[in-house]
Amino acid sequence: MPFLGVDIGGTNTDIVLFDKEFIHLHHFSTKEKISEISKIVGNLEKKYGAKSCIGLAAWIREGKILKAPNLPQIIEFDLIENDANCFTFFAARKLGFKNLLGITIGTGIGAGVIVNGKIYRGRGLAGEIGHSVVGNEGRKCVCGGEDHLEAYFGGWAIRKETGKEAKEIFEADENVIYKMKGFDLLCKQIASASMLMDFEAVVFGGRIGARLSSDKLKEGISKYIMPEFMPEIVTLKDELAVAKGAAILAKEGF
Ligand SMILES: [Zn+2]
Repeated sequence: MPFLGVDIGGTNTDIVLFDKEFIHLHHFSTKEKISEISKIVGNLEKKYGAKSCIGLAAWIREGKILKAPNLPQIIEFDLIENDANCFTFFAARKLGFKNLLGITIGTGIGAGVIVNGKIYRGRGLAGEIGHSVVGNEGRKCVCGGEDHLEAYFGGWAIRKETGKEAKEIFEADENVIYKMKGFDLLCKQIASASMLMDFEAVVFGGRIGARLSSDKLKEGISKYIMPEFMPEIVTLKDELAVAKGAAILAKEGF
């Protein structure tokens, strides 16, 4: 039986088919097609006789979406998983880590936690590091909170602060990114999480996360961590990592 992995992110949606290998079926703007996504997925399930899992940029507890601050609207599916969890699950498999923190930085900031090879969910929402309070400037976050990490270093926040898309900044002078207060706050937050969980590695993905320099990240994190706790820092440049993780979860179950 083939499996479908769907990545519904704040900006783009990708769909992969997973049988013996991964095949990229679709890539489109989430905003433009959000009302059609259920139908598209339903049609693909029929066409391939496939079971699907949807990786969503959303806070999910017991299969229910509590909040999806970076999605244009909430859509319901049978099998859903937080997109950063899908990413981290895929990264753990691909890179061979059993205790791993995955950070996705795109429109927002998500995180997934893998403990002993399995997704750790807590009561469901574990890993929402993007919405921890890190600043003191009163910056409003899309979730309704204030001074959250995402309000300093999520894609939307970088655009707001610099007037540019992160992509343009990376192309012009990426040092601008590393000098941002948000980058320092991100490093600090990862150091704290690593002290708490003693991860083997922290893997970065997403449109922005995958472009960060692992050397700059190491340098930034090492300022805030005892050396004994320093995890390996990896960037995973695979735009389909969330969709692939979702497809593997569709196959193996949660
Ligand atoms: Zn927030």
